[in-house]
Amino acid sequence: MVVTSERRGALAAGLTAVILALLGTPSAALAAALAAARVEPIIDMHVHALSADDQGPPPLAMCTPMDPMPTWDAGGKHQESFLEPFKHPACADPIWSPMTDEEVMTRTLAIMNRRNIIGVVSGRFALVKTWRAAAPERVLPSLMPDFPVRPGLSAELADAKKKGLITVLGELGPQYEGISPDDPKLEGLWAAAEANDIPVAVHVGPGPPGVAYMPGSGYRARLSNPLLLEDVLVRHPRLRVNVMHAGYPMLDATLALLYAHPQVYLDTGVIIYTQSRPEFYRYLKTLVEAGFGKRIMFGSDQMVWPETIERAIAVIDEAPFLSPEQKRDILYNNAARFLRLDAATQARHRAMGAP
Ligand SMILES: [Zn+2]
Repeated sequence: MVVTSERRGALAAGLTAVILALLGTPSAALAAALAAARVEPIIDMHVHALSADDQGPPPLAMCTPMDPMPTWDAGGKHQESFLEPFKHPACADPIWSPMTDEEVMTRTLAIMNRRNIIGVVSGRFALVKTWRAAAPERVLPSLMPDFPVRPGLSAELADAKKKGLITVLGELGPQYEGISPDDPKLEGLWAAAEANDIPVAVHVGPGPPGVAYMPGSGYRARLSNPLLLEDVLVRHPRLRVNVMHAGYPMLDATLALLYAHPQVYLDTGVIIYTQSRPEFYRYLKTLVEAGFGKRIMFGSDQMVWPETIERAIAVIDEAPFLSPEQKRDILYNNAARFLRLDAATQARHRAMGAP
């Protein structure tokens, strides 16, 4: 493992504790110092295992935040304009995407190791399998079923769950197909997830700006309304749902959904780094002040820009309106409850951050 400055700090704290113990300081002090040096676990509910060219030919730049948002003059070829801000970023400190699939994985896993992150990782089966083999303790596999839903899906999910191949079903993106979550075409999917007690993670909200004009895209912004999930929830009361991207920017509808349906959780998703801090904080603060701090989960939506994970963690760490307990809830505790991780698993996650 690479010894980073943060790790070095942790090691130094641990060493100081040992020296103090040798000098005769009570062992309680040693225990406290070692605990302080431990890296607390984080659950990232929204990681993608993608190929380097999945978002377009690499390298591509990601600005955090995307400010100003892209401008299109409605002329010329849209596809080229669409990639323009990712080729010639407007920000001073963009994250440049890796050139190979291998590097997307190794750069992401290096951050997950350093920050003691356990990630719900979704993608094509083969890629998720590769990531899992590289970091079995850190990768919780999340799979996306083929669409339209096959009749045998429930049995397939049962088998995958038994083999430990699936923790979450997602990221489900019917919005990109122009399909509302309450469309009858998706009924088999919700029923299969509920029957197998597998949580679902549903894309609700922003896609890449302009994605509605990409060939084959059915994306419609109006399907960002999280209340479109309401009939699904009522029909499937045992279904666990993660509303990804926190239903942004539909704040009122998100508040209404959370209030009426106490089983619904959110992840922060891509808005944690694409929106400016004032805008993201306005959204998050309202959700927390409305009493939903126990149902917001950290999700970085890392795609092909591994370092977005650490920039996203900083957004939570530095939120001036969150208490240390609220930050821990968002970064770990809420997701642990949503995923129903047992005490032994949570203890293992804490131990994984030992210096
Ligand atoms: Zn995503």
